[in-house]
Amino acid sequence: MTVATAKELPDDHGRFGPYGGRYVPETLMHPLLELEHEYFRAQQDGDFQRELQYYLREFCGRPTPLYLAERLTRELGGPRIYLKREDLLHTGAHKINNAIGQILLARRMGKTRIIAETGAGQHGVATATVAAMFGLKCVIYMGAVDCERQALNVYRMQMLGAEVVPVQAGQRTLKEAVNEAMRDWVTNVRSTHYILGTAYGAHPYPVMVRNFQRVIGDEARRQILEKEKRLPDLLIACVGGGSNAIGLFYPFIGDESVRMLGVEAGGEGIVPERHAARFQGGSLGVLQGTRSYVLQDEHGQIQLTHSVSAGLDYAAVGPEHAWLRDAGRAEYSYATDDQALDAFTKLARLEGIIPALESAHAIAAVIERAPAMAKDRIVIVNLSGRGDKDVAQAADKLGLRTPGN
Ligand SMILES: *Cc1c(COP(=O)(O)O)cnc(C)c1O
Repeated sequence: MTVATAKELPDDHGRFGPYGGRYVPETLMHPLLELEHEYFRAQQDGDFQRELQYYLREFCGRPTPLYLAERLTRELGGPRIYLKREDLLHTGAHKINNAIGQILLARRMGKTRIIAETGAGQHGVATATVAAMFGLKCVIYMGAVDCERQALNVYRMQMLGAEVVPVQAGQRTLKEAVNEAMRDWVTNVRSTHYILGTAYGAHPYPVMVRNFQRVIGDEARRQILEKEKRLPDLLIACVGGGSNAIGLFYPFIGDESVRMLGVEAGGEGIVPERHAARFQGGSLGVLQGTRSYVLQDEHGQIQLTHSVSAGLDYAAVGPEHAWLRDAGRAEYSYATDDQALDAFTKLARLEGIIPALESAHAIAAVIERAPAMAKDRIVIVNLSGRGDKDVAQAADKLGLRTPGN
């Protein structure tokens, strides 16, 4: 398993070694094959790429800065820490990079209706945004529990003209929302494109979403070479399904001196049902179209998961990450809820940046590792999103009060 082969994956069947593939009912095969065909054609089409570049720049706000976090660097006393500022994008997270790419593809395919699943609501908001922008009908599936936890994002989607459908099945969170979206897609496939929100699911989603997100790493690579005249030593990103992390990592896979660290949600610690760190408690399995590391019991039943951040709270991880881990090319650790909350506060106080709770997991990892690293090293942390959506939850956890109360 060389670095070179890692960069060329997936194969024609969407496999990253033993991971990935297309494990779906017969009814989904046709739409997935059509999508694969259209996607790879679009990828080769200069007009499509130019249109994508245009909207990434003019609508989403790319390129995002690569910002030297001076006070965080000084406080930790180790390497120079740069933040890739995906939090500054329109709608507040990296999700828009993928949403804009997929909606352009949907239009090319003549689709008039867009559906998506969402957990924390960030992908739902990104999808509702691009659907509004192009005047397409939009339906977002969201677990009923998540609808309550993330009411602000539900209102945002509704204001953008999307219909938000609360899903009442099972744990009433992200996994059930994905099931509903797939069901809808099978039924309405002629008119409808399903904008899946992370580097997960049946082929071609993992490779397509990675390619729409690699703009993060392509920019970061160019920017660090400009600023420091050399490559970074370490990349850090949080890992839910894995799209912001693979987006940052992918363009560096061939650079063997660059280490990569993905950070999963450790929740309340690595105890069954109290975390979402698939590489800690998970095993090989199939969930929602792909083969990867899954949190499951000995009968293959999907386990409950927990994280303070809804965006990392999912029982499986994107197949390319499983492969990078096997190949020894990337390492995966976790941060607990408490570590993430500490990092959330620390970044706010030291840098004037309130991160998303998801991104705070990556900050927690740099807080842990930086003190043991040499000062002449360089770390890039992906700040995948901003924390506005998490302020009420964090205030509650941190015991904040409004003056006079
Ligand atoms: C959705 C989300 C994540 C997790 O998703 P990935 O696909 O793993 O990137 C991380 N950070 C933010 C801000 C998110 O909205």
